[in-house]
Amino acid sequence: MMSLLEVKNLKTYFHTKEGIVKAVDDVSFTLEEGEAIGLVGESGCGKTTTALSITSLLPEEGTIAGGEIHYNGKNLVELNSNQIRRYRWNEISIAFQGAMNALNPVKKIGEQLTDVMMYHNKLDYKAARKKAKGLMELVEIDPERIDQYPHEFSGGMKQRVMIAMALACDPKILIGDEPTTALDVMVQAQILELLEKLRQELGMSLILITHDLSVMAETCDKAVVMYAGKIVETGTVENVINHSSHPYTQKLVKAFPDIHGKREMTESIPGSPPDLINPPTGCYFHPRCEQATEECKKTAPTLREIAKDHYVACHLRGE
Ligand code: SF4
Repeated sequence: MMSLLEVKNLKTYFHTKEGIVKAVDDVSFTLEEGEAIGLVGESGCGKTTTALSITSLLPEEGTIAGGEIHYNGKNLVELNSNQIRRYRWNEISIAFQGAMNALNPVKKIGEQLTDVMMYHNKLDYKAARKKAKGLMELVEIDPERIDQYPHEFSGGMKQRVMIAMALACDPKILIGDEPTTALDVMVQAQILELLEKLRQELGMSLILITHDLSVMAETCDKAVVMYAGKIVETGTVENVINHSSHPYTQKLVKAFPDIHGKREMTESIPGSPPDLINPPTGCYFHPRCEQATEECKKTAPTLREIAKDHYVACHLRGE
């Protein structure tokens, strides 16, 4: 059966003055209808660049250097910018991190919602405004607030508005880029509940991008753990979290143990992610890995199936 979305050997590179940054390096995963997948890792691991590649929103210095992105059987990488525009909002939509900065401060919420629908869905003003009120209800904001400005909304409410905007054109896939970061614990939980409700009610698929494994655990069916542009572990959330096998994932699990507790790293991962212009030899994680061997410094591990629905890229696993 064909997947709704299939990312195949995706390579996205940034051309900088210092050299080429391989931000996404041979990443593959699939997303089925109604499924939720979490892309997890520290900042700079390539998770957001993967999302920007899928939605064709890469900054100028970024290019897709290889691979395919199939949506409903069509390879989006081969489309020109006009063709891809039709997919963005209508088929695959993204709600960005930091709703406070993404909303226009001088425009009423209702105007911002109707603009999207009038432009992308070609609705007239009356129909767009009616739909905007419906969307506000869907994300549990009182539709009477349609003529208020962003500054009149709390952080959590602004995030709900951002999600409503992303849903304006009835996409099949919603990408949430750190949708709960910078919100307090209670509000985070409410936003995650909202995403789950939308997935159930609208039958949407979800790609959740987060640095926080426990946030992903709450919402997703499948997990993709990225480190330095590569997938290091992937599988069902149950496998990746409860039976984490890659030393990096194990550190992440320890760092974010509990969704309902403090949203701070309880245990930091020593060292920092590598410089992707001059990455380490062998396994990119070896300078930070307590279990590294001589082989790890020489040879890069590849993803191997260690159990059903569980893949890991580590020399010490799956032998
Ligand atoms: Fe650690 Fe080696 Fe596994 Fe890399 S391959 S994660 S360095 S044990």
